[in-house]
Amino acid sequence: MELNEIIELDKKYFVNTFGNRTPVCFEYGKGINLWSTDGKKYTDLFAGIAVSALGHSHPNLVNAIKAQAEKFIHCSNLYYIESQAKLAKLLVDNTCADKVFFSNSGAEANEGAIKLARIYFKKKGMPHKFEIITLEKSFHGRTLATIAATGQDKYQKPYSPLTPSFLKVPANDLEALKNAITENTCAIMLEPIQGEGGINLISTEYMKGVRELCDKEGIFLILDEVQSGLGRTGKLLAYQHFGIEPDIFTLAKALGGGFPIGAMCAKDHVAKAFEPGDHGSTYGGNPLACSTSFAVMETILNENLVENSAKMGDYFIGQLNKLKEKHSFITEVRGKGLMIGIQLSNDKAKEIVTACFENGYLIGNVGPSVIRVLPPLILKQEDIDGFIQVFDRILSNFASK
Ligand SMILES: *Cc1c(COP(=O)(O)O)cnc(C)c1O
Repeated sequence: MELNEIIELDKKYFVNTFGNRTPVCFEYGKGINLWSTDGKKYTDLFAGIAVSALGHSHPNLVNAIKAQAEKFIHCSNLYYIESQAKLAKLLVDNTCADKVFFSNSGAEANEGAIKLARIYFKKKGMPHKFEIITLEKSFHGRTLATIAATGQDKYQKPYSPLTPSFLKVPANDLEALKNAITENTCAIMLEPIQGEGGINLISTEYMKGVRELCDKEGIFLILDEVQSGLGRTGKLLAYQHFGIEPDIFTLAKALGGGFPIGAMCAKDHVAKAFEPGDHGSTYGGNPLACSTSFAVMETILNENLVENSAKMGDYFIGQLNKLKEKHSFITEVRGKGLMIGIQLSNDKAKEIVTACFENGYLIGNVGPSVIRVLPPLILKQEDIDGFIQVFDRILSNFASK
């Protein structure tokens, strides 16, 4: 089909929550590249918002999907599922978690974390402990509970009244957090690096302080690693940067490398609060999702993609900092590994992203003044060099505008 026919169908039949999309439709991909229906080649430095960690059509992922689909795709959680058990073990072996529950998305994984924190205290005879403190500028998903947890008005406004019992505090302000904790608090939930809020870093001092506060108050630290997890920041889990461990953390995005799956991971003493009947999912952890995710996880581990993310991230951030010296409207380059934000002093982020697209590079913006780069973890130095050259030229054009 021609692009204009696809756009026409979309406008006529699809609920318009995504507005005017970038005018392109991709037909196939390989590695870091995507090809559009009109035959143009693109370099993908956005990975479908930190999802396609292995790039596109990685043979390990494709073969895992094929092999499982040929056996069978789905059975219910009334039966034991080999790939589910194996994937849970792989996650536990490589993280601080003791137990895992699978969902279909990041928001759903966060719902599971919120429910687990609440039910834990209910079962301990402390039903008044149900409030969760989250951070301003955070993003935790699009369900009613997770938009209430999210610290951004734009996601919440249309849906008030919001699910109650979520409190917001500013990031990196330990005093504010201390003051917000009451006898009703059951958990603090945050992203180790805020993604949708604009690649905002959390300081090590703050994270350590939050951990200490949680221990002192006997409440849980929930980390939303949906975007930061599985190598994105140059560590397998972003909490490893801080020298702390959460009680509960959530994963999705890179976990399936493009196949929908999420996970709620917890320490054993917390996870025990979920007993038969307390939580569930029809699709969550089904054979196809788990065997696909197992192949993705194994590939990330076996092909040293976490180390590659750290190394390429350092190089990428270094090269971007050189551009910052040259183009004064770049005021900051921030991030860890391959989770990178470029702060502008103007509101041209969207226009610059569009110019990159027109030059064959896919990146993103968050809000008007932050450009976001989230490449596949298989990124090579030559990919970065190619982009930097084009980006430099584009920035020069914008400087003269
Ligand atoms: C993307 C994201 C979510 C939501 O994940 P979905 O799969 O879209 O539900 C939650 N938390 C964070 C930090 C995210 O980046």
